[in-house]
Amino acid sequence: MSDAAKKLLSGIALLLIGGAAIGWIYGRPDTGLLVAALLALVWQVRQLLSFDRSLRTDNFDDFRVGEGIWEQMFSRFRFERDRAARRKQAYRELLKEIRKSTNAMPDGAVILTEENEIVTCNRAAKALAGLKRKKDRGQRVDNILRDPGLTKLLQADDKSETVEIASPVGDGKWLNCRVVPYGADQKLLLLRDVTERMRLSKMRRDFVANASHELRSPLTVINGYLDALSDDEQIPPGWAKPVEQMQGQAKRMRKILGELLELSRLEGSSTVKEEEPIDVVALFENAQQAFEGHANLADIVVNADSKARLRGSAAEIETVIVNLLSNAARFTPTDGTITLTWRSGPDGADLIVSDTGEGIDPEFVPRLTERFFRVDKGRSREDGGTGLGLAIVKHVLARHDAELTITSEPGEGSEFCCSFPTSRVVVSPLVALS
Ligand code: ADP
Repeated sequence: MSDAAKKLLSGIALLLIGGAAIGWIYGRPDTGLLVAALLALVWQVRQLLSFDRSLRTDNFDDFRVGEGIWEQMFSRFRFERDRAARRKQAYRELLKEIRKSTNAMPDGAVILTEENEIVTCNRAAKALAGLKRKKDRGQRVDNILRDPGLTKLLQADDKSETVEIASPVGDGKWLNCRVVPYGADQKLLLLRDVTERMRLSKMRRDFVANASHELRSPLTVINGYLDALSDDEQIPPGWAKPVEQMQGQAKRMRKILGELLELSRLEGSSTVKEEEPIDVVALFENAQQAFEGHANLADIVVNADSKARLRGSAAEIETVIVNLLSNAARFTPTDGTITLTWRSGPDGADLIVSDTGEGIDPEFVPRLTERFFRVDKGRSREDGGTGLGLAIVKHVLARHDAELTITSEPGEGSEFCCSFPTSRVVVSPLVALS
C-alpha cells in the first residue's frame, strides 16, 4: 500500500474516532460516528465530481488537488495525459512524413478495403487516374476505374498478376495495375504510368503489321513469276530444282507474313468481338477430316466428353485447333495417336490436344509461346514451321480469358490444354425425354 493510501485511511480512521469521541461527550457516540462518516463521504464525492467536471471541460484550474491520494492520482493522470499528447504529436509527425513520401512517389498507391472500397490514395493516384482522396473515400475503385481486366485482377488470388488499363483522365495515358496484400484485411492498388511503353509496343506492332503488309505485294509478284517459271516446260533442266526451292521459300515467307499480320491483329485488342456459341466438337471433326487426307499421319481421335458450347470467335478457336493439331501431327510418328478432347465441369471447359509423340524437354516448355521460338530451328524450318503458331494460340486464348497449360514428357508425348472459365461456357438446355 502506498504512503498516500495509508495517509488517507489513517485520516478517515482519525475522523471517525474523533466523531465518535465528540458524540460520546454528548452521550451519542453513534451519531458522532455517522456524522464523521458522512463528512468523509461528502468530501470524497465532491472531489470526484470536481475531477469529473475538470475532465469534461479540460480545465483543471478549479480542481483542488490538496495533498495525499488525490494529489498522487492527479500527478499520475497529468503525467499520462502529457505522455499521450506527446505520442499523438509524434504519430501525427510520422503520418505527415509518410504522406509526404507517398505523395512524392511517382506511382499511384490506393489503399482498398477487402470489398475494394477506397480508404485513401496518394497524389500520384490523383494525377494518373483522377482519384480524389476525400471525395472518393468509400467508393468502389472498380466503379471509378471501369475496366474488366482490373475487375478480374481485384478478384484474382495471384498477386503477381498485372493488367494494363486506359486511364480515365483521358489523355491517352495507360496504367499498369498491380494489387498487393496490405495490412490485415486491406490491399494496395499500385498504378504505374506505362504510356510510353504502350506507345512503343504499339509502334512495334504497327511497324510489324505495316512491313508484313508491304512485303506481301512484291512477294505476290515474285510468286507469280516463280509459278510461271515452274510451269514453263522450256526452262533449262538445271533451273527446275532452284525454281522449286524458291517456290518453297516464297511459300514459307507468305506463311510467316500471314502469321505476323494475324499476331498484330490479335494483339490489337484484348477481347474478342464475336461471341457466338461455338460447337468445338464440330471444329474438331472438321480439322480431323482436313488432316486425315494427308499421308504419313498418326491416328486422330476425337473425345467429345461435353456438349457444352464455347462463347467466342469460331475462326480464332479453329486457328487454335489447327495450330495445335498441325504441331502434334509434325511431332508424332505415324504409329502414334493424337487425341482431341473437349470436356467441361464446374470450373469451366478444357480444349485439349494431346499426342504420343516425341515430347519436349522441360527446360524449353516455358519458352514455347515466345515468337519464333523453336526447339530445333533447322528442323522446324524444314517441315514448314514458323515458330509463331503457339504465340498465336496464346494470344487467341488470352482474348477468350483462357489459359494454356503445356505438359510434356520427352519420348512420351505432349498435352496442350486450353482452359476456359465458366463465363465462356454455354451449357445446352436440357431436353425433356418424353
Ligand atoms: P512451329 O511453327 O515451329 O511449330 P510453334 O510456335 O507452333 O512453332 O511451336 C514452337 C515449338 O514448340 C516447335 O518448333 C516445337 O519445337 C515445339 N512443339 C510444339 N508443339 C509440339 C508437340 N506437339 N510436340 C513436340 N514439340 C512441339
